[in-house]
Amino acid sequence: MIKFDRQKNEETRTTSIEKFAITNVLVFDGEAVRGPETVVVENGTIGTKSDGATIVDGTGCMVLPGLIDTHVHIVDETELQNCARYGVTTACDLGAYPKNLFEKLKKVNWPTEYLSSGLAAFPPQSLHAQFHSNLDKDMSLRPEHRVADWVEARVSECVDFIKIIADEPGFDQAVLNELGRYSRAKGKVTIAHATNYTAYERGVAADYDILTHVPLERPVDSVMVDKMLAQGTVSSPTLVMMKLMVGSEHFKLPGADYQNCLRGVKEMYKAGVPILAGTDSNLLNMPVHHGASIHDELDLLVTAGLDPTDALRGATSLAAKHFGLHDRGRIVPGFKADLILVEGNPTVNIKDTTKIRKVWKDGTEIPHSGTGDHIA
Ligand SMILES: [Zn+2]
Repeated sequence: MIKFDRQKNEETRTTSIEKFAITNVLVFDGEAVRGPETVVVENGTIGTKSDGATIVDGTGCMVLPGLIDTHVHIVDETELQNCARYGVTTACDLGAYPKNLFEKLKKVNWPTEYLSSGLAAFPPQSLHAQFHSNLDKDMSLRPEHRVADWVEARVSECVDFIKIIADEPGFDQAVLNELGRYSRAKGKVTIAHATNYTAYERGVAADYDILTHVPLERPVDSVMVDKMLAQGTVSSPTLVMMKLMVGSEHFKLPGADYQNCLRGVKEMYKAGVPILAGTDSNLLNMPVHHGASIHDELDLLVTAGLDPTDALRGATSLAAKHFGLHDRGRIVPGFKADLILVEGNPTVNIKDTTKIRKVWKDGTEIPHSGTGDHIA
C-alpha cells in the first residue's frame, strides 16, 4: 500500500500556486470532451482569464474533474490520502462507525473531501450485522425504536446522507418506507445497500434515491428498470466489490454469479438509468484499495457495456448531481478546481485514467500523485 508523506502534504498545502493554467489540453468537462484548450485555475476554482498564470503544459493529456467515489469506507487519514493520490477528490463514506471516527475524519477532510452517512440503518438480525463484526448490535435500529428518532439522531450528527441496509432478512417494508420518508423530509439523499433482486425491489418500493451494489443472483430486468426510470432511482453497482464477493468464502448467496451483475448494469444503462462509479473500498473484511480501485471500477463499467464517457460521467457530473454536490464534477467557471491530469484520452481508452500526471484538490496539487508511475 502506498504511504503518504503528511508533512510534505502540509508544506505543499501552504505553498500552492494561486493561479495556474493548463495549456493545450483535452478537457473532459464532466459531460463532454472539449479542446485542446486552456483550463485556468484561480483561488481554488475554475477561472476564465489566464493572464499572469503559471503554465502547466497539458500537451498529450486530458484534464478531468476530480473523481467522486460514491461508495467507500474510510477509517484513517492514510486512506483519504490514498484516495487523493489516485484522483479521488471526493469520497462518499456509506457506513462509518463509531461516531468519534466519523467526526474525526470530517474534521480532517483533506486531501480528499470526506462525506459520510455515519452509521447505516441496520436491523439486528441482518447478515450485514453478523458479517461486520466491528458493528455494535446495540446500534441497530430495532422495532422498539422510532424511525423518526433514528433519522433525527443522524441529522444531529451532521451526516451528509442516509444509508439503509435493504437486504433480507432485514427491515419490514414499512420500516424501509418510513426511513425514506423521514430522510427526505430532512433533505437527505437516501442510499440503500442492496445485493440481491429482492433488496432492489424493496429499495425501489421505498423510493430511495440510490441503490448501491447490484443483484448477484438474478440480473436487474426490464420490470425493475421501468420502475427505476419512473421514479428516478439510480445505481452505484460497485462491480469491483461484486466480483470479489462472488469469489469470497465469507459470502455465500445461492446462485451468485458475477455475470448477473454485468447483465444488470447493462440492462439499466441501455434503458437510461444513471450508473454511478463506486467501489466499496475498505481495508476491513474484503479489502478493496482506496483510490486505485476507482480505476478498476471504471474499467469494469466499460466491460459491462458503458461507453467510456458515460463511465466517467458516473464518477464526475452524475455522481455530483445525485449526491447533491452542486459545486463539483464539472470543469466550468466557478466550480471547485478538483482536477486530474492524465496522459492519453480516457474517453477513448478508459485505462488511460491510470496514467496520472497530477491531481489537484481545490486548486492545490496533491503531492506524490503523477510521479510517472502508472498504476496499472
Ligand atoms: Zn459498503
